[in-house]
Amino acid sequence: MKNVKRRDFVTGAAAAGATGALAAASSFPKPAIAQGTFKWRMVTTWPKNFPGLGTGANLLAKMIGEMSEGRLEVEVYGAGEIVPAFESMDAVSSGTVEMGHGAPYYWKGKVPASQFIASLPFGLTAQEQNAWFYYGGGQELADKVYAEMGTKFFPSGNTGVQMGGWFNKEINSLDDYNGLKMRIPGLGGEVVKAAGGIVVNLPGGEIPPALQSGAIDATEWVGPYNDLAFGLYKSAKFYYYPGWHEPATVLDCFVNMKAWESLPADLQAVVEGANRAVNLAVLSEFQARNNDSLDVLINEHGVVLKKFPDEVLNGLGGLAGQVLTELADQDPMSREVLDSILDFRRKLIAWTKVSEQSYMTARLLPFEYAKPSRG
Ligand code: CA
Repeated sequence: MKNVKRRDFVTGAAAAGATGALAAASSFPKPAIAQGTFKWRMVTTWPKNFPGLGTGANLLAKMIGEMSEGRLEVEVYGAGEIVPAFESMDAVSSGTVEMGHGAPYYWKGKVPASQFIASLPFGLTAQEQNAWFYYGGGQELADKVYAEMGTKFFPSGNTGVQMGGWFNKEINSLDDYNGLKMRIPGLGGEVVKAAGGIVVNLPGGEIPPALQSGAIDATEWVGPYNDLAFGLYKSAKFYYYPGWHEPATVLDCFVNMKAWESLPADLQAVVEGANRAVNLAVLSEFQARNNDSLDVLINEHGVVLKKFPDEVLNGLGGLAGQVLTELADQDPMSREVLDSILDFRRKLIAWTKVSEQSYMTARLLPFEYAKPSRG
């Protein structure tokens, strides 16, 4: 379509030279640039420019602008600049702004199935999650869920396996969750609740003061790169792994449905392509930076790194199974999403076991490997 229009315009311009500017203005199509220029605003649940997350949203806007040669300009707003973090979906649903960036589980109060899109406790890894979106029917299911909120969905970043969180006491058994006041969102929060914890959900920017004041006993946020940026080590000593509750948290780009439908097909392709690129870029950034940040936390800030005991993980896994089943049985759309992921998870566990998992074990065998020339 676009090429046809451009050809028409070129023909029109040549004709305009012959017949005069007045005739051109009234009877020829306007240049494509003037025809199809869009200025959008994107609200985010992230503090402005927050490493990995806010900067991921910035990258999305930049790529959309560049790939469309300025025909679709997106201006990014941090949490609280237009609306508070958790009102981002309302702002996009209602058309106050055209686009948002956050995480699917923040919208569970609107459409419960959205938390099943985010990441399941003991669910898929980031690569598996992306395989589900792009080749396992995940995109179509997520679109169905987000259509309930009047929006179009794109996966737009992934944190990879998160950290288990920051605690001021050791977690040696499931009983240690009893009465623990913890910030932990989504389905992971439901599991901690089932283990006897008192669960709160706070947007990122409110976590450090809540942990510092003792309003919460424990929190999770993302991983070393983000947790270091928030200074969470100042208020809690034990840093637990792995993040069983968020093994591959999806970041979402959601677009007001009318705004989406108003875009010509080529700009829709730009938005989709930019989201695919950002989805990979965000995951890659976390992968690249987490270990350096973990080193800083341990060696400069004296953080005590601890692994959840298998007994605790096994107990949490069992509770996760119960919680997922109960929630899905209350809501047909959640059930549809869960069934799709369970089927995919079963197949991917089988393949991952003979591929990534075996390779990772092989890589750690005690052979002597090549050494860098320096150091
Ligand atoms: Ca988290």
